[in-house]
Amino acid sequence: MSVEEEVMRIQKKLTKMTSGDGTNQEQALDLLRELQKLNIDLEVLTKTRIGMTVNALRKSTTDDEVITLAKTLIKNWKKFLSGSNNKESNSNSNSANLNKSKKKEEKAKDEKEKKLPSQFPSSSNTTDAVRLKCREMLAAALRVEKEDFEGCAPPEELAEELEEAIFSEFKNTDMRYKNRVRSRISNLKDTKNPTLRTNFRIGAISASRLAVMTAEEMANDEIKQLRERFRKEAINDAQLATVQGTKTDLLKCGKCKKRNCTYNQIQTRSADEPMTTFVMCNECGNRWKFC
Ligand SMILES: [Zn+2]
Repeated sequence: MSVEEEVMRIQKKLTKMTSGDGTNQEQALDLLRELQKLNIDLEVLTKTRIGMTVNALRKSTTDDEVITLAKTLIKNWKKFLSGSNNKESNSNSNSANLNKSKKKEEKAKDEKEKKLPSQFPSSSNTTDAVRLKCREMLAAALRVEKEDFEGCAPPEELAEELEEAIFSEFKNTDMRYKNRVRSRISNLKDTKNPTLRTNFRIGAISASRLAVMTAEEMANDEIKQLRERFRKEAINDAQLATVQGTKTDLLKCGKCKKRNCTYNQIQTRSADEPMTTFVMCNECGNRWKFC
């Protein structure tokens, strides 16, 4: 079995764990240790994107040991990435210039490492200029109003997820892809309809759902229904206990990406103003609020 196949086998298992209900800590540790032993080169890293997988695992687990080992692996790969690039340039230079080129390398390495973080934690890598531009515009649409979404996933991450979902349908960036992106942008940044944006940001509407929503759906109906469902749930529950809060899978945690939250709605201002919803993730303890 080649290293690449080996990595892919482990990757498969890790992905399963990340998307599953809880992480089996022992198995996760074993798999990460296996990865640590493998001689993973730049080609394997790029081909398999195992860095993303390990990063996703790191985000989804609450186990300290798993987090630490995952971080170490990612850190080593990052180092190795810049290191292996340097080797290439090294082989081109002769030994007389070694000292000079070494200094140059170090400088280049510094610059490279500055760029690396933006490559790693993201869920997917693309160098396609059109796709990157679309992600940028989607993220800008999500930031159209200064709103407090502390604790929710950052706009860049959501934009990337959404773009990825759209791209995976068309598998290219033709007119249909562009139209789809464009219509999401105009609806998301519509200041008259902040509900779509809010629901997407808090995870009530997933990226894969938003990617395929029709104009009518984005404009209101489904969103209203969601709101209605949300409100009913709250009313039903208000009769039970206010301190405990309501469990829901309608909301997605921006930190660990799981849908296991508890929320409380509180009227913070006058009665005709919308209620503030306080949310807590039951998986990782992340807290946030929205109106
Ligand atoms: Zn969470």
